Amino acid sequence: MSSSVLIVEDERRIASFIEKGLRANGFVPLCVSDGATALDVAMTADFDLIVLDLGLPDMDGFTVLRRLRHAGVRVPVVVLTARDGVRDTVAALEGGADDYMSKPFRFEELLARVRLRLRLRTERATEEVTVLSVGHISLDLRTRRARVGPRTIDLTAREFLLAETFLRHPGQVLAREQLLSAVWGYDYDPGSNIVDVYVGYLRRKLGAGTITTVRGMGYRLEPEPPFA
Ligand code: CA
Repeated sequence: MSSSVLIVEDERRIASFIEKGLRANGFVPLCVSDGATALDVAMTADFDLIVLDLGLPDMDGFTVLRRLRHAGVRVPVVVLTARDGVRDTVAALEGGADDYMSKPFRFEELLARVRLRLRLRTERATEEVTVLSVGHISLDLRTRRARVGPRTIDLTAREFLLAETFLRHPGQVLAREQLLSAVWGYDYDPGSNIVDVYVGYLRRKLGAGTITTVRGMGYRLEPEPPFA
């Protein structure tokens, strides 16, 4: 099936140059020329990739990128930057872009990056069963490695198991007893405060606002945890 690519670029000449090139290579491109439309379209349709210019008339590409990532849209994004925009490039990558292309560029260079990102995404998708992720938090069940955004986090075996329990039930309230039996087994005193202690450890490592206390009921992993 052809991959769909959203092109967000206000300069008509560049937009049509990319659009024609992609179409000629079997992609299904769609061009929009401002950030608000880009957000609308990207959040309602499923694109395989987004080519995002940083200089847009209504809001900059960074804002578009941040809002997309915050809304849980994880489609690969290749940003277009000015040739001397080293700082922009770094900021874009830190803001969740997967790759960048400095203007001016030859179409073949962009095409190579687009193909690479799509291939990596497919490879990642086939491995997905072993990786749990909610927002910017992810757990690799095979390597037992936890990540918060770009950072790798060290978790002890118990912390990992507790995090895994939360990530399997994002947005659901989990009672202390449930967590106790899932992570420690039944041989713990239900009056023990060990769950609370470990939730504290996780909050420190994953971010303070990620796990909410629901008074009298238990704890909940926020489905869109704030990035701290
Ligand atoms: Ca522009």
